[in-house]
Order: sequence, then structure tokens, then C-alpha cells
Amino acid sequence: MAERKIALLGGTFDPIHVGHTAVAAEAVKHIGAEKIVFIPAKHSPLKGFFPIASDDDRFKMMALAIANQKSFELSDCELKKPAPSYTLETVRKFQADYGNETSLYWLVGADSIDDLAHWYKIVELIDECYLSAMYRAGCEPPDFTKFEPIWGRQRVEKLQRNVIQTPLIDISSTEIRARLAASRDVTDVLHPAVADYIRTHGLYRRKVKP
Ligand code: ATP
Repeated sequence: MAERKIALLGGTFDPIHVGHTAVAAEAVKHIGAEKIVFIPAKHSPLKGFFPIASDDDRFKMMALAIANQKSFELSDCELKKPAPSYTLETVRKFQADYGNETSLYWLVGADSIDDLAHWYKIVELIDECYLSAMYRAGCEPPDFTKFEPIWGRQRVEKLQRNVIQTPLIDISSTEIRARLAASRDVTDVLHPAVADYIRTHGLYRRKVKP
């Protein structure tokens, strides 16, 4: 049986933006994956704060952003669990669902690399899936060599092999929330249907600390 490859992209998506979908599309192509599953988190254990928009609003915005993209899927598996969600548990759930013939690629932006050492059971995660670091504007290209003393050479080589040179798109949800709170234009960074949803539901109007 041919090996199936599925990419997974977790995050808070508060809100989802064109950077997310652009790097996802490139990652799917690079990996040769049949699809990518977007997985909104209830609460990122390392972010230390809860998303601004509700789970329901974030999920609905994501559904709007990925509509009509055949290789994009959305999963509410982490939203249905009590916070926090650990990536390893999510990867194990997908592995159980798809079976051992399927290779899972968990994508992570270059901004998260320094945090990885604090992720729950990171060594098991590195071993059990293909943790694939993506380039991100404003960040150094992903480089794992400094982790060699703690994770060992083989793991670091695996991580380096799976780096994906995604396009540099200088957008973050933090920047978008700040622009919305200041009533500034966001049409260049949001999918039109997501911008409409935010306007209709009056999301992100309050000033928040980034
Ligand atoms: P925030 O500004 O609220 O931290 P974010 O824009 O980083 O949000 P997340 O929902 O945290 O968005 O991102 C989910 C995943 O997508 C993370 O792995 C993140 O690194 C990655 N990502 C987000 N935006 C980009 C981008 N412009 N280029 C590359 N990777 C990105």
C-alpha cells in the first residue's frame, strides 16, 4: 500500500490569516501530502493567555478561509477537549485514526522553535511524527543544531531534513488584532469572508495588549 502523507497545522488562529493558508499550501506541495488538517487549539499551553475570539468564532472563520480548497481540512478535535491541548496527544489521535501506514507531518513556524524544548514530551513527538519547521518572516531560518546536546544528533538531523522553505509572509494574528482594535484596514491580510465575519460580529474591537 502506498504511504499516505498528511500534514497538520495547529495554532490559535485568532484569527486565521492569509499567511497561514499560504504556508499551508506550500507545505502540502513540498511534502507531497494528500491534505493538510488545520487544528485550532483551545488554549496554547505556552501562550499563557486565552484566545480573544471564542472557539466557535475562530472555528467558523477557519471554515470560511479554507472553503473551496480541496486539500484543506478543519478539525475540532482539540476544541472538544478541555484545555490545554498537547500536540503529542493530537498526533497520537490522528495516527490512531489513519493507521500506521500514514506519515504525519506536524508543521510549526520558525517563531516557535525556541519554545520547542518546553513542549510536552517533545522527544516522543520528534520520534513519532515528522516535525516540520517552516520559514517565517522576521525569524532566522529554522536551525536545530543548538538542541543536539539534549536531543542527540539523529533527532536534530531528522528535524533539519524536514525544514520547509515556505514563502516569507510578514503577517501575524497579533498584528491583525492590533490593527482591528485601532480600526485600521486588514483587507490585505485576511480572506474576504473572514474580514466580513469579523465586521459583522464586531470581533477584536477592544484594545488588547499584544
Ligand atoms: P499570534 O500572533 O496570535 O501569536 P500567529 O500569527 O503566530 O498568531 P498562530 O495561530 O499562532 O498564528 O499560528 C499557527 C502556526 O502557524 C504556528 O506554527 C505559526 O508559527 C505558524 N504561522 C503563523 N503565521 C505564519 C506566517 N506568516 N509564516 C509562517 N508561519 C506562520
